[in-house]
Amino acid sequence: MERLRATDIKFLKGVGPKRGELLAKELGIVTCADLLYHFPSHYVDRSRFYRIADFSGDMPMVQVKGHFVSFSVQGEGAKMRLVGLFTDGTSSMEVVWFKRIKAIREMYRTGMEYVVFGKPSSFSGRWSMVHPEMDTPDSAGFARGLRGVYPLTEKLRNRGVTSRTLFTMVQTLLGTYCRNIADPLPVDIVEKLRLMSRRDALHAIHNPRNAAELDKARLRLKFEELLYLQLNILNYSRHRAARTGGMRFTRVGTFFHSFYSQVLPFELTGAQKRVIKEIRADMNSGRQMNRLLQGDVGSGKTLVALLCMLIALDNGTQACLMAPTEILATQHFETLAPLAAKVGVNIKLLTGSTPKKQRDVIHGQLADGSLHILIGTHAVIEDSVRFRNLGFVVIDEQHRFGVAQRAKMWRKNTVPPHVLVMTATPIPRTLAMTVYGDLDVSVIDELPPGRKPVVTLLRYDNHRLDVYRAITRQLKAGRQVYIVYPLIKENEKTDMKSLEEGYEQICDVFRDYRVAYVHGKMKPAEKDAQMALFVSHKADILVATTVIEVGVNVPNATTMVIENAERFGLSQLHQLRGRVGRGDGQSYCVLMSKQTIGKDTRRRLEIMTSTSDGFVVAEADLKLRGPGDLEGTLQSGMAIDLHIANLATDGAIIQMARDCACGILDKDPSLAQTEHAGLLKEIRSIFNRVVDWSMIS
Ligand code: ADP
Ligand code: MG
Repeated sequence: MERLRATDIKFLKGVGPKRGELLAKELGIVTCADLLYHFPSHYVDRSRFYRIADFSGDMPMVQVKGHFVSFSVQGEGAKMRLVGLFTDGTSSMEVVWFKRIKAIREMYRTGMEYVVFGKPSSFSGRWSMVHPEMDTPDSAGFARGLRGVYPLTEKLRNRGVTSRTLFTMVQTLLGTYCRNIADPLPVDIVEKLRLMSRRDALHAIHNPRNAAELDKARLRLKFEELLYLQLNILNYSRHRAARTGGMRFTRVGTFFHSFYSQVLPFELTGAQKRVIKEIRADMNSGRQMNRLLQGDVGSGKTLVALLCMLIALDNGTQACLMAPTEILATQHFETLAPLAAKVGVNIKLLTGSTPKKQRDVIHGQLADGSLHILIGTHAVIEDSVRFRNLGFVVIDEQHRFGVAQRAKMWRKNTVPPHVLVMTATPIPRTLAMTVYGDLDVSVIDELPPGRKPVVTLLRYDNHRLDVYRAITRQLKAGRQVYIVYPLIKENEKTDMKSLEEGYEQICDVFRDYRVAYVHGKMKPAEKDAQMALFVSHKADILVATTVIEVGVNVPNATTMVIENAERFGLSQLHQLRGRVGRGDGQSYCVLMSKQTIGKDTRRRLEIMTSTSDGFVVAEADLKLRGPGDLEGTLQSGMAIDLHIANLATDGAIIQMARDCACGILDKDPSLAQTEHAGLLKEIRSIFNRVVDWSMIS
């Protein structure tokens, strides 16, 4: 493999400097190894010949064996084309070329047998094939079995580089350099997991004989890729865990106990208790905690965070809670401050808009230790914010913060503080393993008692009157209602208009009720005033944009109507839905959509109506949209260019790779054993940095 990695693609027979440059620029194929790992995006069936007489409907790519009866040049100028009449004995079709007419006319003869391969289309009852691949039945390039279709760019196509060209290059490569490709995976693993060898997998992925062989090849290559990723992640976290000690919080004292017995208005759920136990064990382990706390909206994460912060205070340290937006930070502050105050905790809010004077007070109190808990936005990361003794950091909604920010918080004390990352967007376990691979994971998988799952309904615009009638019933029963409109950047102007019109319409339809109105473009004071109306039940209906997505807590609100639901992402819909179902009444979420939506959109919305489980929604969202920006949060130097594995859909293989990586590192933490030499070499070359494996052992 090293030889392939070191060999410039231009030296491969049939490539040369010009094409080499083009391949590098268009596809990032610089070396022979890059070409070998440029896998087909899909495959077409070349295991059988089709009969022209059997063509019907929308045809896939097919191959036909037959001969040309005649050629003619038709049309003029830009419309000039070469048309060959091709017959296979069952019927005939036209084979058409628009380019390189002269050369092609000289290349093919009537009466000789050819295999043509392409996508037939029919025009007024006549079948034709444009620019097919051409072979003679005995030519070497002629494939049987499945034939790969390679990803290309427009520019390459214009320069005459086709999928077929790449196929031929790969075949040359396989035939010359690739007879012996060593397998970096230890033999026992290959045998135990019944994997193909690397050599066989690379051959098969480019030339699968059948679907089963293709599956085996894919599995092997995906597994290998994910194994390196997991080895690298695990190495990183084990390395760090071994290196960084942590503060020991040995006791639970007055802050915690008096809060628990005097302030806490309810019993903790079993899941909350379990998670607090896990966190306590971490805090007393002598190692720095880095833990991800996942829990559906409303599962009581914030409360868990507060209790853990109190333990930190009991051990003579300070705590800090960081949220991604000012609204969220403020809301955390407003919920937690009155609770904390009851047990004598000094708690303050720091955001970008905190006035200088107040900021100075905070800086002073942080330095002398009289400020116990600081809540804020990323303003708290700034170097000017210095704690006397920071012991515990809570980061809410992690996915908007990078690992770099987390690391900045570690450095706010000589011994790094414990870090708890909270996310309300449930991340499927296997993805968490990768994206947050260096974190331990706790899950609150139980809602506080008495919560009834929200009933979610999908309604189309023509049902609006029924929906309004249902809203009226809720309002008559003394309940409150949210009506949410999209306000999405690219459509800001039209969205604003439909929001305003919607508001007027709602005021008009529900004349007897009081309507409040918020959107993100309002001045904060105005927004707060409107929100306050709804919170104190001086308003019955809240017309809003997604600004209410996080944090708002009005248990009496039992209905949410989401307008243009088809325009929201699944996770966002789920977050919004979390605003209702917070009290003891049955709650409803109505997804309003226009009638003409695509199949995928309908499927998305139906997932919402079929489950209220955030993890199920997140899995589905991930499969539909792919991991998207989650991949972007991978630790720098830990990111890997995945050629074939897919973090969204290869959950089972990620698990397999994770388990295997754990086993390897348990046995041989620095990959020093001979059987792991191949692995170490691969990892070093992929991650392109010197991983210090020796320090762990
Ligand atoms: P999250 O941060 O996970 O969205 P919160 O901590 O904000 O959840 O809790 C949601 C609501 O449920 C809050 O009003 C909170 O006071 C309440 N709550 C939390 N834990 C419990 C519990 N064990 N029993 C009853 N209510 C709870
Ligand atoms: Mg919360």
